[in-house]
Amino acid sequence: MKALVYTGTQELVYRDEPNPSKVSGESILKIHASGICGSDMHAYHGHDERRIPPLILGHEVSGKIQNGKFKDKDVVLNPLITCGKCEYCRTGREHLCPSRIILGMNKPIERQGVFAEFVSTPDQNIYEIPNGLDKNEAPVAEPTAVSLHAVLIGEKSLKKPLSECKVLVQGGGAIGLLCGLILSKIKKTKNIVLSDPNKLRLAECSKYLDAKFVSPTDKEIMSNSFDIIFDTVGLEVSRQQAIDVVKPGGSIIHIGLTQPAGPFNFRKMTLQEVTVIGTYCYTNKDFEQTLEILAKKEIGSLDWIEFRDLKSGGEAFKQIHDGTCVAPKIILLP
Ligand SMILES: [Zn+2]
Ligand SMILES: [Zn+2]
Repeated sequence: MKALVYTGTQELVYRDEPNPSKVSGESILKIHASGICGSDMHAYHGHDERRIPPLILGHEVSGKIQNGKFKDKDVVLNPLITCGKCEYCRTGREHLCPSRIILGMNKPIERQGVFAEFVSTPDQNIYEIPNGLDKNEAPVAEPTAVSLHAVLIGEKSLKKPLSECKVLVQGGGAIGLLCGLILSKIKKTKNIVLSDPNKLRLAECSKYLDAKFVSPTDKEIMSNSFDIIFDTVGLEVSRQQAIDVVKPGGSIIHIGLTQPAGPFNFRKMTLQEVTVIGTYCYTNKDFEQTLEILAKKEIGSLDWIEFRDLKSGGEAFKQIHDGTCVAPKIILLP
């Protein structure tokens, strides 16, 4: 099969790779479409110790199953593979399973990713694409589930409904835009500010989301003025801004992971009882709910997705890297 292989820092090669072999309990997916995620970019920059080259990256995927009980079904994969037996798996928090692995990782166990023509997947990770969801847009289910999970966790942490909250979303990538769309269209939040340094990206997001679009240094982002902040960036500077601008008793939902550590105003967090929550992936239930949301078009049109050929995927990574790519999500078609 053809695949886009990550061969070294900022290096992707489109080349022939062996087809995945059949494994018991798993099926082979012929890939329709695969989305480029922030975590793929992180690996591409050589910053992910779980993704060591050479490796096929990618985990946001739809396709047609080639064998087994789902044969010939158009499906989307939940790429988070878990044990099904541990304390977390048994209580609906599969995403915290200690032996979890995501497609497109090779540490601790090898799982080739989806920037390819075929991939092998455990049967329990297969979900039929519901009516109403286009098969090439279906990979967006994965980042949508990440965003839904973050919004639901944020909602639970607050003492008032999200519809009455003033919200800051830091970052206008797919996760930021999707958090904004879920807040605006499903949770009926009216007061949303979305910040990003890339003006072209803000202009693109503004076509789909009802919010104020500003640069991260804009006066609009004032100290002690937001009930809840979604940090989809995860830089030291975004976290410092989040703790500065959150209101007493407010919440910070930390999703992005660009920089793992750094100074933070723990004094304000403590004195003002700010809730800071890290969120990761999604539960199986969140993933199922996401498919329903997308099938019913509850977050509106997905025309902000840009489609490109898998062959020229390397170029897409380069453009995302140098900030010349405007679309919040690029999906590659083999
Ligand atoms: Zn992703
Ligand atoms: Zn488990």
